[in-house]
Amino acid sequence: MRRFTAPLLLACSMALSACAGTAAKPPQTAVEFTTPSGPPKLIVAISIDQFSADTFAQFRQHYTGGFVRLSNGVVFPSGFQSHSATETCPGHSTLLTGVRPTRNGIVANSWFEPDGPRGDKPIYCAEDERDPASSARNPVVSAYHLKVPTLGEWMKSANPATRNVAVSAKDRAVMMMGGQKIDAAWWWKGGAFVSHKDRSATPAVLAVNAKAAATIKAGAPALPIPVWCKAADNAVPVRGTTLGTGRFLLEPGKESGFRISPRMDSATVDLAIGLTDEMGLGQGAVPDVLSVSLSATDYVGHATGVAGAEMCILQNQLDQDLGRLFAHLDSKGIDYMVVLSADHGGLDMPERMDQQAFPRAERVDPALVPENLSKALVAKTGIITEGPLVFGDGPLGDIYVSRKLDAAQRSKAIAGLVAMLKAHPQVAGVYTADELAKTPLPSGNPQDWSLKDRARAGFHPGRSGDVVMLLDRAVTPIPEPMPGAYVATHGSAWDYDRRVPILFWRRGMRGFEQPQPVETIDIAPSLAAVLGLKVPEGAFDGRCLDLDGGAGNSCAQ
Ligand SMILES: [Zn+2]
Repeated sequence: MRRFTAPLLLACSMALSACAGTAAKPPQTAVEFTTPSGPPKLIVAISIDQFSADTFAQFRQHYTGGFVRLSNGVVFPSGFQSHSATETCPGHSTLLTGVRPTRNGIVANSWFEPDGPRGDKPIYCAEDERDPASSARNPVVSAYHLKVPTLGEWMKSANPATRNVAVSAKDRAVMMMGGQKIDAAWWWKGGAFVSHKDRSATPAVLAVNAKAAATIKAGAPALPIPVWCKAADNAVPVRGTTLGTGRFLLEPGKESGFRISPRMDSATVDLAIGLTDEMGLGQGAVPDVLSVSLSATDYVGHATGVAGAEMCILQNQLDQDLGRLFAHLDSKGIDYMVVLSADHGGLDMPERMDQQAFPRAERVDPALVPENLSKALVAKTGIITEGPLVFGDGPLGDIYVSRKLDAAQRSKAIAGLVAMLKAHPQVAGVYTADELAKTPLPSGNPQDWSLKDRARAGFHPGRSGDVVMLLDRAVTPIPEPMPGAYVATHGSAWDYDRRVPILFWRRGMRGFEQPQPVETIDIAPSLAAVLGLKVPEGAFDGRCLDLDGGAGNSCAQ
């Protein structure tokens, strides 16, 4: 173990006359860096759902809790979810596998396999549709579709004593960060944390569920607004109401009011703490993994946008909850390493962007919704089929062509669809599956990739659409806003949705900030190196990031 000290440089503004007499004195305070030796005993992998690099930058100056600690570690402000399908499932699938969606198979939250048994019905990314009880709307939750191991699974292969634990409000976040070999997996459903049907709730889970149920039943008062949120506290008209001044008053009995609020993150952190204690995570002979995906930033972003008082209050509470988690791990004396990142970024609602100097933001033309595309294509081509001619999950991304066509009709339908989309002013890129399959895998800095490269990174034959449609910058793929539920979103190929922070922290680590672009697929190889974990050559698509801020190299262990 190497120890060294570095002087704490005291920032001193020229405007402060009190500083003038102190400039020549040596600083009295020193920060001690203790280069950690050996692998940490616990990996705490945190995903903040819909946490763009822009949101991190916007609120960074105001954090006082857990984010301050992380900001003193290793900071990559430009991490990339480099694929174009910037949704929750593909995003979470990269975080701990180190593998892009093109190889890990998670191309979207929902996709279609028109040649398979489901036909033109959707498949949910975190379901096992081999179980007849499963449907996309009510899935039998599984990581079956994830085609590569997660970090926790690699660790369990190396030593079965490792515990692999994941918690989130979202089942897909749990499955994609944890994988199939998982020791505890809990997600929120209908007002309580649940798991696979063969797992029963432990005392830690029961305690968190009881507390949440009591809060939902009784309701809860509005949350306080930090002073620094005042500028954001501004009512913006949206479809007959206003958003931007919410306070998260919880009406008794309203589960969605609990879920779409900072209370959901607090409960998830409570559960992470409870399971840590109950299972003794980080206190065994071999390292464990605790994955925590915090969903409220996403829920609140969708419901109210990302730049109102609601997001401001939420970020303040999230920061405090992260601080609470770290303080608890400290109190147990656990040597833990944190990585925090996000599954994707996000875009504010166009109504507020219009007020804030970006009037070209707009909502998607309903003509681009797959049902309407299908009708227009029938009219254009004259092809009549049983069922829709084309179908998809929404007005962006993967569009599939009916399998009830002969080869000539199929070619005609695809050509007609491509021509229609290319002519639409809100569409920035249109690629066929054949075209993407022939496109080389992109390399180099992801911020410099073409739109086609971005689509290629998430293209998986058999799951991706026959045609992939990318919307133009600042086109929100929600034709009609639903205030309080769904007004803003993500999912585009633009960097507001692709660029996320990646933060590492471990006690004693020498912090640094590297603004050059890195990728979320770099997280798993970086952690594997710190853990001394050997994986087969080619297991990861990403590269190891050297987290030693000095002459050492954490990738060379
Ligand atoms: Zn998400």
